[in-house]
Amino acid sequence: MILPIVAYGHPVLRQTATDIDKDYPGLEKLVTDMWETMYASNGVGLAAPQINRSIRLFVVDTEQMFEGMDEDEKGEYPDNPGTKAVFINAHIVSLDGELWPYNEGCLSIPKIREDVNRNREVTLRYLDGQFEPQEKTFTGISARVILHEYDHIDGKLFIDHISQLKRKLMKGKLTDISKGKVRVDYKMMFPQ
Ligand SMILES: [Zn+2]
Repeated sequence: MILPIVAYGHPVLRQTATDIDKDYPGLEKLVTDMWETMYASNGVGLAAPQINRSIRLFVVDTEQMFEGMDEDEKGEYPDNPGTKAVFINAHIVSLDGELWPYNEGCLSIPKIREDVNRNREVTLRYLDGQFEPQEKTFTGISARVILHEYDHIDGKLFIDHISQLKRKLMKGKLTDISKGKVRVDYKMMFPQ
């Protein structure tokens, strides 16, 4: 089932999400619905707060990003051919590598893209889709998307990483998004 994506301005996007246990009601269906919702909106990641659930759950598929690249471009990213995974109760163990810029967007903030600096490498402790404990290090484009989604479960957004001036300049656009004054080709839930 495709779920509506919460738009900028909704308070759930600013909450620190909580860990869940194995008995969380309807977890399997929720994960299936999140994959479906992410692909239907052409996303490469989706976090539970974006579908109005303040829990530490996100899904990432960067394999689809590599499918569209030529060999040279693929070579630029050490995580080729990408990562497809479910992350439950994720917590960052360490951030490593230098900061690098990448032009990011967000399904909750449509039509806005900005360069964001993030670490090249992240090590996370989390439970996978089978609730098995994992501790893994991610790099490249996978680390990029994982860090973006991880921000969501901590109540942060990619626009928090850009300069105050740039944020000031986009204030009108952000207000429009929160009021539903934006055209998107996927289902959204607007706060106002
Ligand atoms: Zn996002």
